[in-house]
Amino acid sequence: ERAYRVAAMPIGGEGGLYVLLFRDQSEARRIDRMRTDFIANASHELRTPLASIAGFIETLRGPARNDAKARDNFLQIMQKQTARMARLIDDLLSLSRLEAKPYVRPTERVDLGRLLREVSDSLSHLATETGVAIKLDLPEAPLEVTGNRDELVQVFANLLENACKYGSSGGRVTLQARREKPGAETAVTVTDFGPGIPQEHIPRITERFYRVDVETSRAQKGTGLGLAIVKHILTRHGARLSIRSKVGEGSSFTVYFPPG
Ligand code: ADP
Repeated sequence: ERAYRVAAMPIGGEGGLYVLLFRDQSEARRIDRMRTDFIANASHELRTPLASIAGFIETLRGPARNDAKARDNFLQIMQKQTARMARLIDDLLSLSRLEAKPYVRPTERVDLGRLLREVSDSLSHLATETGVAIKLDLPEAPLEVTGNRDELVQVFANLLENACKYGSSGGRVTLQARREKPGAETAVTVTDFGPGIPQEHIPRITERFYRVDVETSRAQKGTGLGLAIVKHILTRHGARLSIRSKVGEGSSFTVYFPPG
């Protein structure tokens, strides 16, 4: 869909000549629509648990007033719903902080080996919970890239967390970092052997709030913003994300850092 703003500029002459100026508005409109979609999605995601909490409060004040068992059950659900809203707000804040940052490349030297070991340790409880063994394939020598340490922790924690959650049926997840030769790109790959992602969804899963299956995502405590945050951070790093997946075999997410 194309949209143009048209302006007529008189250039004089006897016949009253005009030049018509067409300014392409499609990009501005697209960004505008993305913004309104985003606000609508975020509001909806917050409204859903809120409506459920309001419903339980009403029941607790009315019909279930003296039912101790129902009360415990409802309080537990309400606790889960508030946790979900808190996660969503944290992710929304992360995104908005990233967007507010000036567009300059981060400059810290970060040793990926060390960082990935830390990320893997921090997710060991989740791996145990989902029955996944995390296998590391990292070089002994330092493997440095230029970036922002905290942001890169967020990237690999999100990818590894997704692998442990969505790919848990595969029983193992691998985390590999390598650089073929000095001066080459550095690649970090997170692989799972779970259900995989149908091809048609792959181009869209880094979009905000895009999920292959909303119920599975909710059950896995997802917000639909994880990969959008990953993509945002990688763009700031001049890095790219490559996603490969085969239904029934698993998925791999590879981050390529530019040389230097
Ligand atoms: P969520 O908060 O829902 O996990 P993400 O942005 O992290 O959101 O991921 C978007 C969607 O991509 C998920 O809801 C899930 O459907 C799909 N997805 C992400 N990683 C994997 C994976 N390793 N295996 C299968 N599906 C995945």
